[in-house]
Amino acid sequence: MNDAHAPHPDTLLVHAGRDPAASAGFVNTPVYRGSTILVDSFESWEAARAAGNPYAHYGRFGSPTTRALESAVARIEGGYRAQVFPSGLSACTHALLGLVRSGDHVLMTDNVYGPTRAFADSVLARMGVAVEYFDPTAGAASLRLQARTRAVFLESPGSLSFELCDIPAIARVAHAAGARVVLDNSWASPLFLQPFALGVDISVQAATKYLVGHSDVLLGVATANEESWPLLAAGAHDFGETAGPDDLYLALRGIRTLGVRLRQHWRTGVQLAQALERHPAVLRVLHPALPSHPQHALWQRDFSGASGLFGLVLRSEDTTQIAAFFRSLRLFGIGLSWGGYESLALPVGRPVRSAGPWPHRGYLLRIHAGLEDADELCEDMLRALQVFAPARIAMPQP
Ligand SMILES: *Cc1c(COP(=O)(O)O)cnc(C)c1O
Repeated sequence: MNDAHAPHPDTLLVHAGRDPAASAGFVNTPVYRGSTILVDSFESWEAARAAGNPYAHYGRFGSPTTRALESAVARIEGGYRAQVFPSGLSACTHALLGLVRSGDHVLMTDNVYGPTRAFADSVLARMGVAVEYFDPTAGAASLRLQARTRAVFLESPGSLSFELCDIPAIARVAHAAGARVVLDNSWASPLFLQPFALGVDISVQAATKYLVGHSDVLLGVATANEESWPLLAAGAHDFGETAGPDDLYLALRGIRTLGVRLRQHWRTGVQLAQALERHPAVLRVLHPALPSHPQHALWQRDFSGASGLFGLVLRSEDTTQIAAFFRSLRLFGIGLSWGGYESLALPVGRPVRSAGPWPHRGYLLRIHAGLEDADELCEDMLRALQVFAPARIAMPQP
């Protein structure tokens, strides 16, 4: 979108992908269910057959609900067009599948989402695509691009390590070498990071997280710039990827409140992170919006906000103490995923790395700050941390 007076992102969240005039005046785009789409004559059937795909006039290729969500996400991300997928992982894997063929090479950030790594190590490897991991913090100059490198896959910040990478610098060297840049932009959501302005070619959202926002849907969206769009679209259609209409509807509904939810997640997350950073049982807090984060300057430069997801490295690695800590938490659920309204604490331990060692000693937890009262969340977490009796953790001297 290039209009001189582009709407404010909050206005876009409310208006994008909505056309009440086309749905009998109803505010929300309705749920269209279906496989068969009827036409009224031979002539209109012939006219409906798309040049590139004569079978595209069919429910698998989407409905007005699909198009509404795709156009909303594409506008909010600032991309050309978007494609929905049945899960965030599916959006990651198909973005890659659209770009590579046997014999190609892919560079992947070492802090990538675990299942994306598993896909690269199994499916891409089996296809004859070589995958190499790089340290996201090492800088663009150290990227080992090859003549056959087709894609550089980024996740910034990583959803376990919270390391950031220099997206525009990496995009410059990748493009100079003829490779495209894919970014998993789920942490920031399009609201807090505009990927295409930074040189990204395909941006992926695990819509399951903040776009949906209520932990009740699995869905992914990938958005491409104009040049990469045909590759992304083919990579989806040829595999038969589609998404259910109720899930699409819920994602559209979630987008309307993304702004208010995300700002609250941000505020509460920072309050929690700051309270935890002062606690003697905590070795480090990994939160890009805190000045103590090693890449805080990149966050300040590229992001306009922070979500509610961050990491916490405990001094203790004693699993009996850690189990007692989890038992005494009252407001934090233990579980995977994030981006819903509820707070979560996830035992991680040590993330998987291949480019280099994980830099922190201590036990890693991942915290999702939900929409509960921030003071009560802090109290709950600080009370649970008392299980790490001061005598058993090396207390720093004042
Ligand atoms: C959850 C997640 C995904 C995958 O999304 P699903 O909808 O669960 O498949 C991808 N990337 C990141 C960073 C995630 O956190």
